[in-house]
Amino acid sequence: MPRPLSATIHLDSMQHNLQRARMEAPHANIWAVVKANAYGHGLERGMRGFAQADGLALVETEGALWLRQNGWNKPILLLEGIFDAQDVPMLAEHNINSAVHNIEQVKMLEYTRHVGPIDVHLKMNTGMNRLGFTPGEYEAAYRRLRAIPDVRHITHMTHFANADELEHPRLTIAEQVRRFKYGAGELPGERSLSNSGGVLHQGELGDALSNDWVRPGIMLYGGTPGGRSALDYNLLPTMTLRSEVIGIQQIAAGDTVGYGSRFEATGPMTIGVVACGYADGYPRHAPHGTPVIVDGVATRLVGRVSMDMMTVDLSPIANARIGSKVTLWGDGLPVDEVAQAAGTIGYELMCALAPRVRVLEGRMGTDG
Ligand SMILES: *Cc1c(COP(=O)(O)O)cnc(C)c1O
Repeated sequence: MPRPLSATIHLDSMQHNLQRARMEAPHANIWAVVKANAYGHGLERGMRGFAQADGLALVETEGALWLRQNGWNKPILLLEGIFDAQDVPMLAEHNINSAVHNIEQVKMLEYTRHVGPIDVHLKMNTGMNRLGFTPGEYEAAYRRLRAIPDVRHITHMTHFANADELEHPRLTIAEQVRRFKYGAGELPGERSLSNSGGVLHQGELGDALSNDWVRPGIMLYGGTPGGRSALDYNLLPTMTLRSEVIGIQQIAAGDTVGYGSRFEATGPMTIGVVACGYADGYPRHAPHGTPVIVDGVATRLVGRVSMDMMTVDLSPIANARIGSKVTLWGDGLPVDEVAQAAGTIGYELMCALAPRVRVLEGRMGTDG
């Protein structure tokens, strides 16, 4: 028998969450973002779970090719574009849409002529200060691209720094939209602005966003970009990380648990050892008190997470035994709640799922 740890991917939840994105942005086409191995779910499962999306977006060129070669016939977008001029012909040959965010990428397209039509997403830096042309440089970049015969459609794109918060004190969505409109003006072409945060605020922002394409990622995986719970938005978990209790210790007041003896019992208690550690992708920095579920009952992590195991308080669980079922996140325990306790975000937890974890498929409410 394999180790009892597994991650169950809920393809039906992925479909459901995609529908939620459609409801929030009913007039937009949807790029389902499947970078980072579909946020840890597997690219192939991303392709199936988001079969109804209008396109798939990612950053890995080999992933883009894999999608084309494995039957994805709809649009594909490389969110960081290409990294070498050698990749220009691939864009045309496989009909892969590429972001263009710096002048080097414009030059790559200029040098490589007569390869066939290429669709690009020209990226504007509206305050994120990561990728893109400033609003002032933008039109000139557009004109240069427009002059390249192989370049077909040019979509105007930007990315929000604080889409999870409508009124961020430093940089609001509204301000980024204002800069975007200033930079792109009336230039012809479609617009693509919103990540999950933007999609979830589409209603509040209304026409200001005027997205032709949206690019949700985390919401499709049952996470939220901000502090709110996925349940508030009727998003369902897509990955449930489960294991079992493989050891039990009865300890007394003054006894400590695990490396560094960081947890000290104040009275008699039962400790369960769970087969899941940081080498599985569970965050080592998750502190005492991080939520876990054992046999359907909410309890907490105690002591330091080790490589292959973690320790939990079994005191609230009446009939805990070796083999008791443990949920680390997912069905019944939104990944954001675990992430918040561990001082990180659901994205990081799901993306960090380690290769040694068995991945299953199944519906929520079953053992996968
Ligand atoms: C990752 C990414 C997204 C998706 O972001 P979420 O917060 O996961 O919705 C959208 N656009 C770009 C450019 C990205 O890199």
